[in-house]
Amino acid sequence: MSFRILKLLLAVVVSGFLLAAIYFTVVIAERQDALRRISRYNPTWQAQQALSEFMKLDQSLRMFKDENGDGEKEEVQTRFDIFAGTINSLAKGSFRVLIEREPSFERTISKLAGATNDAAPLIESLNNPDDALAALQSLHPLQSSLTQFAAVTFRHGTALTSDDQQELTQLHWIFSSVVGFLILFGLALIGLLARHNILLERTYRRVGNLAADLTHLAHHDPLTGLANRALFQERLEQSLENAPNDGSTLAVLYLDLDLFKNVNDTLGHETGDRLLKTVAARIQACVRDNSVIARLGGDEFAILTGPINIVQECTILASRIVKEIGSVYDIDGHEIIIGTSIGIASTELGTSSPEQLLKQADMALYRAKADGRGTFRFFEPEMDIELQARRALEVDLRKAMVNNELYLAFQPQVSLQANDVTGFEALLRWRHPVRGSVSPVEFIPIAEDIGLIASLSEWVINEACRTAVTWPENMKVAVNISPVQFRNRTLLPCVRKALMRTGLDPSRLELELTESALLEENETTVTALHELRNLGVRIALDDFGTGYSSLSYLRSFPFDKIKIDQSFVRELFIRPDCMVIIRSIVGLGRGLGMSITAEGVETDEQLAQIRAAGCTEAQGYLLGRPKPASDLGFSGTLPALV
Ligand code: C2E
Ligand code: MG
Ligand code: MG
Repeated sequence: MSFRILKLLLAVVVSGFLLAAIYFTVVIAERQDALRRISRYNPTWQAQQALSEFMKLDQSLRMFKDENGDGEKEEVQTRFDIFAGTINSLAKGSFRVLIEREPSFERTISKLAGATNDAAPLIESLNNPDDALAALQSLHPLQSSLTQFAAVTFRHGTALTSDDQQELTQLHWIFSSVVGFLILFGLALIGLLARHNILLERTYRRVGNLAADLTHLAHHDPLTGLANRALFQERLEQSLENAPNDGSTLAVLYLDLDLFKNVNDTLGHETGDRLLKTVAARIQACVRDNSVIARLGGDEFAILTGPINIVQECTILASRIVKEIGSVYDIDGHEIIIGTSIGIASTELGTSSPEQLLKQADMALYRAKADGRGTFRFFEPEMDIELQARRALEVDLRKAMVNNELYLAFQPQVSLQANDVTGFEALLRWRHPVRGSVSPVEFIPIAEDIGLIASLSEWVINEACRTAVTWPENMKVAVNISPVQFRNRTLLPCVRKALMRTGLDPSRLELELTESALLEENETTVTALHELRNLGVRIALDDFGTGYSSLSYLRSFPFDKIKIDQSFVRELFIRPDCMVIIRSIVGLGRGLGMSITAEGVETDEQLAQIRAAGCTEAQGYLLGRPKPASDLGFSGTLPALV
C-alpha cells in the first residue's frame, strides 16, 4: 500500500470519525428531548390523582352526612384542601405541555377549578348533614368530568408514551450504530496507523540503506569496489595522526599499470574494465588485511600499509605485486600481458603530511617508469630535486615563446630518384639563455603535459608556412604534429588559418603524425584526417615501425608518405631483420601508392642500402643537418604574418 492511498484512507477515517462524533452529539440532544417528553406522562398520573382525591373527598363528605354531622369535619376539610391543591396544580408545570397540545383540557381544568372554588365556602361552613349534602351536590358534576379527564389524559399519555418509546428505541438503535461505527472507525484508524508505522519503518530502513549506499559510493570506486581517492586520503590522514610511536613506519605504494592505454585502445574499454577488476583482485590477494587499497583513477592504484618495517616488507610486497600483476591474464579469450611500476614513500624520512607522502610516492613512481617500467622504486630526496627542476623547466618553457627563445631548424628531405632536395622538415629548437639548447624530445612532452602544445604548434605551423613561402615553389615543408593537438581538435582551424595568413599553397605543406596520434583509430580520427586532407595538405606517417605499426592505420587512411623510423636505418648493419622490415614497409607503401622516406641516414652505406630497398626519399645528417632558415641558402626576406 502506498503512502498516498494510506493518506487518503486516513483522511476518510478521520472524516468518518468527525461526522460520527457530530451525529453522536445530535443523537444525544434528541435523546434528551425524548426523555423530557416522557416526563409528560406525569400529567396522566396527576389527573388520576385528582380523581382519586375527589373520590376520597366524596367518601369523607358522605361519611359526614351519614353520621349526621358528627363525623370528622377536619377530615373533610383536609381532603378538600388536598383536592383543591391537586386541581390547582393541573394548570401548572408539566400539565401545561399537555394543555398546549390539547386546548380542550384548559376548559375542563378551568371548569373543575371553578366548581372547586364554588364548593369551597360550603366545605368551610360544614356543620350538618345538609351542608354535606349541598357540598356533595355542588361537587357531583365534577366526578364525571374528572373521570372523563383522567380517561382522556390516560389515553393521551399512553399514545405519547408509545410514540416516545418508539422514538427512544429508534434513538437507541441509532445510538448503538453510531457507537458501533465509532468503534469500527477506531479499529480502522488503529489498523491504518499500524500500517502507516510499518511503511514509515520500511521507508526509514530504505533511506538508511540508501544513505549507506551513497556513502559507500562516495568513498569507493564503482568498478573495482576499492576505496577511492577521497577515502584513501581520509585513511591516510587518520593513520598518520594515530601512528604508533614504536619505530614502525607507514608506507604508501603508488602503482601505475604500464601501457594500460593500449589495452583500452586495442581491445576496447569493456575488456580494459575487466582487466582493472582482475588487477584489483590480484593486488588484494597480495596485501595484508590492515592495508588500505584504493583505485585513484584510470590505471592508478595506491596501497597504504599498516605499521611495517619499511625496506624489507615493502620490497617483498612490491616485488610480489609486480610479479602477480605481470602474470598473463585471460580476459574474454584475450591473452593480456601488462606490467606495473610502483613508487614507494614512507614516514621513515620524517614525512608526516598525507599530500607530501603521496607526492613522494608519485615521484618514486615516475622514477620507476623512467627506469624501464615493471619495477619499483623507493622515494629519495633527490627525486624531489628532479621534480623541482622539471617545474623550473616548465616555468621557463612558458616564457620561451614570449622571450623569442624558440626558432625552427629545417632539415632537407631528398628524393632518391631525382637526387635532389624536395623539401625540409621543420624541427623546433629552444635556445635558453642559461640552459643552452634544449631538445624537443625533452620539452615537447612537457608542453603537452602543461597544455602549452596548442599555442606552440600554432607558432610552429605559422612560422614554417611563413618561411616556406619564400622558398622555390617546388620546395615542400613538413611540420610535426603532436598527438595531443591532433586529438584536441584545434589542428584543422590552426592549419587553415596559417595557410590563409601566409598564402602558402596547401600542397606544399606536409603534416607529420605519429601512430600515437591515431591510437584511437575510429571514425572521428579518420574524419579529422580527411578534413585536413581536404584542405589540400599532405599527410605523412612519422616514425613508422616503432609503435604498434598496425596495418589497419594504413588501410583506414591513404597517407601520402610513410617515414621509416631512424632506428631501422641506424641498426641496418647490426640487425639483419632491419633490412627485411624496411623492404616490407617499402612493399606495403608502394602497394598503397604512398612514398617512403628513410630517416636518420648518416652514412653512404646506409644510403645505398635504403636506395636498394626501394625507399623513395631519405633524410639524415648525411644529406643535411637541421639548420635555421637563414642558413638554407634561399635568398629573400620572410614575409610578415598578416
Ligand atoms: P622526428 O619528427 O622524427 O624528427 C627527426 C629527428 O631526428 C630530429 O630530431 C632530427 O634532428 C633527428 N635526425 C635527423 N637526421 C638524423 C640523423 O641522421 N641521425 C640522428 N641521430 N638524428 C637525426 P629533433 O629535432 O631532436 O626532434 C626530435 C623529435 O621531436 C622529432 O622527431 C619530433 O617528433 C619532435 N619534434 C621536433 N620538432 C617538433 C615540432 O615542432 N612539433 C612537434 N610536435 N614535435 C616536434
Ligand atoms: Mg618528423
Ligand atoms: Mg621521425
